[in-house]
Formats: sequence, C-alpha cells, structure tokens
Amino acid sequence: MGTVVEAANKGVNGSITEKNPTVVFVLGGPGSGKGTQCANIVEHFGYTHLSAGDLLRAEIKSGSENGTMIQNMIKEGKIVPSEVTIKLLQRAMQESGNDKFLIDGFPRNEENRAAFENVTGIEPAFVLFFDCPEEEMERRLLSRNQGREDDNIETIRKRFNVFLESSLPVINYYDGKAKVRKIDAARPVQDIFETVKAIFAPKNEKAD
Ligand code: UDP
Ligand code: MG
Repeated sequence: MGTVVEAANKGVNGSITEKNPTVVFVLGGPGSGKGTQCANIVEHFGYTHLSAGDLLRAEIKSGSENGTMIQNMIKEGKIVPSEVTIKLLQRAMQESGNDKFLIDGFPRNEENRAAFENVTGIEPAFVLFFDCPEEEMERRLLSRNQGREDDNIETIRKRFNVFLESSLPVINYYDGKAKVRKIDAARPVQDIFETVKAIFAPKNEKAD
C-alpha cells in the first residue's frame, strides 16, 4: 500500500488493480489470427476483448491530440509509446465492468511489458501465442481488405521485423515463466479454436 505507482493509479484511473482482474495476453505476428480467435473466446468464456491496435485506431478517429503521432507510427509499423497504449487499456478495463480480459496485440516489446506491470500491478494469468509462418501471415494480410493503412506490403515487412526483433523477446520472457501456451496458427480457424478451447476450459471438463 501507498506506493507512488498505486497512488498515481487511483488518482488517474480509479482502481482496476483493486479488482484483481484476470488478464490473458494474446500475442502473435500480424495476421496470425489473434482477433479472430479472441472473438470466439469472448463468445464461449465471457472475457472482454481489448485489442490494443483497435484502441489506438479509435484514438486516431476520436481526434485526440495524440492522433497524428499514433497514425504515423502505425503507418510505419512502429510501436506507440507505452504510456499512450497503457492509458487506453486501463480506461477500457475500467469502463468494461468485467474482470476477465483478453489483451490482444500488447505488450509488443519488453518496455511495454515492464511498464504495464509497473503501472497496473497486473501480471497475466498466461499468454496465448499464435505461431504462424510469415508466408501465411502475409497471404492473410494482403487478402483481408479491412481498409487498414498498414496492410500494404511495405508496412507488412516492417511489422514482421518489429515482431521478430521486439515482440518475440516478450514471448520468450513469459516462456521462461512457463506462462506461454503456444498454438499452431497455420490451421483452419475452427481447428485452432478447438485447441484454444482446451486451454480455457476448466481442467475437470477437459476429459470428455
Ligand atoms: N500498435 C502499437 N502498440 C500496441 C498495439 C498496436 O504500437 O500495443 C500499433 C503498431 O504500429 C502495430 C499497429 O498498431 O503495427 C497494428 O496493431 P494490431 O495489433 O492491430 O495489428 P497486427 O499487426 O497484430 O495485425
Ligand atoms: Mg488485430
């Protein structure tokens, strides 16, 4: 009690930490299927899905003072400063009323990870890692047509590099804590969800 971080937390954000929420980080390269599987998990297991990328894109649309900076970083496939993303995640957690969250596409580097833990005091229950070959991710991104400014081949290449250089170390960090649940994400959506379900289902319901 009474640390500077806790005090700051309460002042600015209320106290999501007090709820002691369950957080699952959903990580994997661009186009690995994080968003698609999160939608399935929400339907079956009552989590709230928070996509860091979607929150950042909403922030651009809202005309916030950070909008232009965020837009430029996304166009270049770069990682937005932790402070910005963490504030958006905290606000979304606070506003949801739920206490179970899938945080999709965050943390993207070690600094994101450490800052989130320091600021919120939350450690993930586990990390879902959608493992997918680059050729398959590239094919999906180029064919998905969601009107995203970063789904062009130049930006996609940059996003792949950032994933390998900055995001894989986060996965390795949690692997060292035995928190990573690695999923072969090159399969059909329904097959992948069968694997995902087994991870979320309570142990005693697993044997059928
Ligand atoms: N992004 C970021 N921090 C985050 C999440 C996303 O900076 O925590 C930015 C980054 O530029 C990334 C883009 O938003 O390339 C799109 O992220 P999203 O997770 O939506 O897409 P993905 O690359 O996983 O398909
Ligand atoms: Mg996504």
